[in-house]
Parts: sequence; structure tokens; C-alpha cells
Amino acid sequence: MRKPNMMEAKKRTRAEIKVIRDAYIVPSSINNIGIDKKYFLRTYGCQMNVHDSENIKGELEELGYTEIDNYEDADLIIINTCAIRENAHNKVFGFLGRLKHLKKQKPNILVGLCGCMAQEEAVVNEIIDKYQWLDFVFGTHNIHELPQILKQHLDLKQLIVEVPSNEGNIYENIPVKRDHPFKAWVNIMYGCDKFCTYCIVPYTRGKQRSRRPEDIINEVKDLIKKGYLEVTLLGQNVNAYGKDFTGLDYNMATLLKDISKLPIKRIRFLTSHPWDFTKEMILVIKNNSNIMPHFHLPIQAGSNKVLKLMGRRYTKESYLELYQKIKQAIPGASITTDIIVGFPNETEVDFKETLDIVNKCKFDSAFTFIYSPREGTGAARIVDIVDIKEKEARLQTLNQLINKYTLESNQKLMNKMVPVLIEGKSARNEALLVGYTDTFKLVNIKGDSSLIGKIVDVKITEVKTWCLYGEVNNGKN
Ligand code: SF4
Repeated sequence: MRKPNMMEAKKRTRAEIKVIRDAYIVPSSINNIGIDKKYFLRTYGCQMNVHDSENIKGELEELGYTEIDNYEDADLIIINTCAIRENAHNKVFGFLGRLKHLKKQKPNILVGLCGCMAQEEAVVNEIIDKYQWLDFVFGTHNIHELPQILKQHLDLKQLIVEVPSNEGNIYENIPVKRDHPFKAWVNIMYGCDKFCTYCIVPYTRGKQRSRRPEDIINEVKDLIKKGYLEVTLLGQNVNAYGKDFTGLDYNMATLLKDISKLPIKRIRFLTSHPWDFTKEMILVIKNNSNIMPHFHLPIQAGSNKVLKLMGRRYTKESYLELYQKIKQAIPGASITTDIIVGFPNETEVDFKETLDIVNKCKFDSAFTFIYSPREGTGAARIVDIVDIKEKEARLQTLNQLINKYTLESNQKLMNKMVPVLIEGKSARNEALLVGYTDTFKLVNIKGDSSLIGKIVDVKITEVKTWCLYGEVNNGKN
């Protein structure tokens, strides 16, 4: 048994990051255990988790399992969890309650839990204490060990907990089953060293580890060969890519430049910490039309006092300066953001500073949240006197303002021609296709399904706050 340990998870030593290429091993005794069996995988949280789930699916399909979307019919169920907010945490425990009931009816099904919550010491202690009916738990550092963990459970017939809390290495050559046929996630780095005081990620995902440029470039080349049109370069703080290399002068700007030389139509990247966004990056993006003009640039708060307490390393003024540099260099760029309302002891004046930066930046859209304390983080130790009702009212005020600017930015596209990658049929209306503009705006389009998987010019004919409507003018691939 390996249990997570918050003290170990916090350590940052000079230990060398190893790139391990042969760690994924399938024990011969379980080679085909999934033949004629079905699995269900539920994913909570961010794109990193979504992509981890693609690896888990790849491993399960190599064992012969087939994916289904109804957990009640599955032989194997895995929940990939998120630890960012209390809400996601509660949803997982709610789902576990339903699975306990299912397992009573069908004792032979296997149920496992993984992801960021599995890296939390308190969660794993609770599981060991009260959820002995679960079959296995593994963490974010050892997704490649899933076949061995399954074997261990089948041999011992007991709850297996394998959650190492190390700083982390890089594991290459893990199978992957991608969710999408022409858009792909590509991890460029793992972990984070920023330790923003509200954030659990540096504990659950370990220290910053950048993948070698050649591994990333080869993955993108392979995706191009398979017909992919869009890649999103993923990491907790992609702008810091390469800062952990020793003896290699290679950073996010260099990586973007090298990937943009490949025949890939669209390059995106997520998520950007403003502190690490360089002038060099802006220049590379400006000069390469296949790097999409959309930047998700979390501000989190507008008050310098709160930003300092959050450990964000920038001020409202320096954020604004970066924002203006991006807008000047790339005039049509869309900028979206994340904002936390009600950080411990945020005053009315602090909150007005947040509204002020929103008024200045007029973001294209924003993910807004009420602060959620995460055990073990610095901010969770602050005694907060602000009432939750007050925080909810602030969130509502903020959302109204954000929505106003989202609609305004969408209105600028009315009657304009925009390039859209058509992804498929609308889930709400079969007669419509859906896709995203270069600036990452969702468009509903009248057209036939032969356009799916193509980048087409679309004339915007109607705008709403959450989406646009348009008509295809001429198809191009
Ligand atoms: S940079 Fe992002 S992932 Fe890293 S600690 Fe800050 S909020 Fe968390």
C-alpha cells in the first residue's frame, strides 16, 4: 500500500526528473481480462484530467475492455476525480454512494477511484476507513501502473491503494484512446511549482516537469499523420514550459515556434499564468497564423492586496499591461479569464477592484467561482469573516458584468466571416452543426454533416451571450 502524504507532496528537491519510456507493462496473466467486458469512466475537473482519462481508456482497451456510457451495465467503473473545489469533491462522494448500492446488487463489478482527490491524504484515509468495498485507488503519478494495480486486486481480492506522493517523473508511451477524431490534447508538462495559496494542484500533481521537446513534436507529427487538425498544448502553467530543463535553453516561445512550423492547422494552449507570459511568446503567436488568437489568462482577483495573499506574483497593473500588449500585437485576439470571488476576508473595496479590472479588460468570457478552501493549502488557514451570502451576491454581480461583456464581444462578430472547425452535430438540435472559431467562440451552423472535421468560413447571422449562429459560405479543408 502507498498512501498519499501532504508533506511529501509539498517537497521540492533538486532530484533529477527522469523520463521513463518503458514503465507501462501489462502482466501476461491479465493480458485479455477485458475481452467481452465493458468499462465506464467518469471524469471530473480540468482538461488535464480529461486527457489522463484518455490514457486510462487506452490502457483499458489494450486489456480488451469496451467503453460504454451507462455505468449500471459496466463490469469495471473508474472515477477520475478533481480536488479543486468542494463541489466536485461532494459530487464524487455522491456518485460513490450510488456505486455502493450497485456493487451490493452486482458484487463482481470492479470499482476504482483515481485523479487529484486520490492524492489527498484525508480522502484516502476516509476511503480506507469507510469505503472498503472499493476495489482500487491510484493517483495522478501512476496512471501507467493501472494494469499492475488491477492484477494486484484480482490476486489479493482486497482494496488496493497505490498513491505515491513523489515530486514526479515523466512517463512516455502510455496508451491513449482519444475522445475526438480531429482535435487532440497534448501534454507538454506536468505539475506546478507556483503554489498559489488557494490551490491544491502543486500537492496533487507534483513538481513542474516539462516533456522533452522532441517527444512533444513527435506526438504532434503523429497526430497530423492521423488527420488531426487541432492540438491543444496542455499544462497547469504552460508559459513556464522548459524552466525546469537543465542544460537545455528551450522555452514555451521556442516550442510554439517549432510546432507552428508543422502542417497543423490550429494550435491552442492551456493554461497560462500571466507571470510567465513573455514578449517572445506574443511575437511568435503574432507571426504564426496557425497559433489561435485565444488566450485563457486567469486574473483571479483585481485587488493587489488579494493577489498578494493569493501568491499570484503579479499586480492588477502588470496584468493590464500584459493584456494591452497582447491586444496591441494581436488585435482580434479573444482573452478569457478565471476569477475567484470571496477569497478569505475580501472586502467590498477589494471586490470593486475586481469589477474595475473586468470593466477595463472587457473579457470575452470568464469562469467565475466562489473561493473554496482546500485542506493543506495556505489560504485554508486564514480565518475568514465574510458571510457566504455576501460572497454569493458578489458572484451574481460579477456574472452579470461578465455576461454583458461576453455579449458585447460576440456582437462585434455580427455579419462577419469567421473560420470555424466543425466538430459535429449539436446535442440540442440535430439540424445544426457546432464548432469553434479561431477565437474559441461556439457557433451553431446550418449545414450538412459532410462539413464535420473541416475548417470552413462561416458568416455570423445571430449572436447570443453563450453562442453564435451562422451560415457556411464556402467550404475549405
Ligand atoms: S499556477 Fe495554477 S496550478 Fe499552479 S498553483 Fe497557481 S493556480 Fe494552481
